[in-house]
Amino acid sequence: MRSWLVRGLRRGCDFIGAPTLGRGKDTLLFSHIRLLVGPPGSGKTLLASRLTGLLPPLDEASALEAAAVRSLGQQRLDPGRWREPAFRHPHHTASGIALVGGGSPPRPGEISLAHHGVLFLDELTEWDRRVLEVLREPLESGQITISRAAQQAEFPARFQLVAAMNPCPCGWAGDPSGRCHCSAELVARYRGRISGPLLDRIDLIVEVPRLSAAELRPGPVPPEDSATVARRVAAARARQDVRGALNARLGAGALASAAPLDAETQALLDRAIDRLQLSARVAQRLLRVARTIADLAGESQVVRAHLAEAISLRRFALPG
Ligand SMILES: [Zn+2]
Repeated sequence: MRSWLVRGLRRGCDFIGAPTLGRGKDTLLFSHIRLLVGPPGSGKTLLASRLTGLLPPLDEASALEAAAVRSLGQQRLDPGRWREPAFRHPHHTASGIALVGGGSPPRPGEISLAHHGVLFLDELTEWDRRVLEVLREPLESGQITISRAAQQAEFPARFQLVAAMNPCPCGWAGDPSGRCHCSAELVARYRGRISGPLLDRIDLIVEVPRLSAAELRPGPVPPEDSATVARRVAAARARQDVRGALNARLGAGALASAAPLDAETQALLDRAIDRLQLSARVAQRLLRVARTIADLAGESQVVRAHLAEAISLRRFALPG
């Protein structure tokens, strides 16, 4: 699932993939929260920045909303690109105010400048945990309230979060070169720098390996063309529109009626909850991703295979 995308992006294609790689790649486009894990130079930033190009253009109302927030943030507007979703890439030394907004008079922060677009947090383990904690409210509500002594302001902040990190302190864990000598304890401590509540909110973990020269050459399987992928994604989005929201934003009640589980699938979920000690929140996130996978397959029911795929897309973050 990973190499097709990285390879495609490096070759400058907008969307490319081998049919055998499954639907994992398409789920990237459905507002589920993603964490990219890979060594330095593997293209995590490039991958994140290209995701905005794969999103559909904003409708007029959303584009106007995003433009209004950007003008409050004193950002220059490019009239030729006003329907394009924003891509914001703040540095890990950014303050809480820079990230969520503040000041006097209150100004929108990065999360609002990314409204209807993508917020990319690179080097996730380097961010101050207290700064990241403030993301929790807007991730749930799609807006942020900024209170100062004299003023209160509310800004929209419905962004897609994409984060990235190295797999270990040296950056090379899992690389075939074997150059990583980080101990298991060191790796665990490094990964533990991300707070549990934030990890709970991540839906998809995408490993982005460094590719060799041979892997960058076109393979024997012809790539799926962009139009085919775009049609499948549009059809799945249309199914979600009927429910009134993308699956990533369905509330608990709506999710339960959109994804009723048969006994076999429920048993798999129960086992995963037990063995992996999943919180109710994480279990719901798995169901949302499973619902998207079923939508991409054009199936009305979420079945065991969809849920199993959703679990596999999140395994890095799960204990055990
Ligand atoms: Zn290492």
